Amino acid sequence: MVFTLPKLSYAYNSLEPAIDAKTMEIHHNKHHQAYIDNLNKAIEPFKELQDKKVEELLADNLKIVPESIKIAVKNHGGGHANHTFFWEILTGNKKENEFKGKIADLIKKDFGDFDRFKAAFSETAMKRFGSGWVWLVSNNKKLEIYSTANQDSPIMEGKKPLLGLDVWEHAYYLNYQNKRADYIAAFWSIVNWKKVEEIFKSV
Ligand code: MN
Repeated sequence: MVFTLPKLSYAYNSLEPAIDAKTMEIHHNKHHQAYIDNLNKAIEPFKELQDKKVEELLADNLKIVPESIKIAVKNHGGGHANHTFFWEILTGNKKENEFKGKIADLIKKDFGDFDRFKAAFSETAMKRFGSGWVWLVSNNKKLEIYSTANQDSPIMEGKKPLLGLDVWEHAYYLNYQNKRADYIAAFWSIVNWKKVEEIFKSV
């Protein structure tokens, strides 16, 4: 299939002040679009890959992807999958930001309480050296916080993302400059826990 940029379900300015409209516009319309363009270019000569979903390309460390384009698909297919996921778990709607439901109960059970979970997730995000992501994943039904470099996707290792935060500088530098910690702190005010709950129930 030819991959296309997913439309956001909210306006670029709706995540303010946590993420400003200009950052959202460039991030979605330029960065995410570039991953898609490069992914399409990489798979262009391989007809058999063109009806696959991006998750299928990334599965089992890109098992079905020919060696010659593995790195390109890892980077750009990962970039497409990660960003598509990221947009979905963000919201400017305060009701959707309420931390509740089965996922909230399990987080509290596994991490002690919400604050301890946030601290552990934030610390992992701070420790990611250079560009990458921090994730809450379901790994064989067990919750796990971990981080990936570059655009590596948890899907490559069979882990199901439930929550993810982009800590590439392009995700925050316009508004936060070098203050990654402030960006991470602001993230909690725009997490769509309603959506995270839906994803959790589907994995
Ligand atoms: Mn990004």
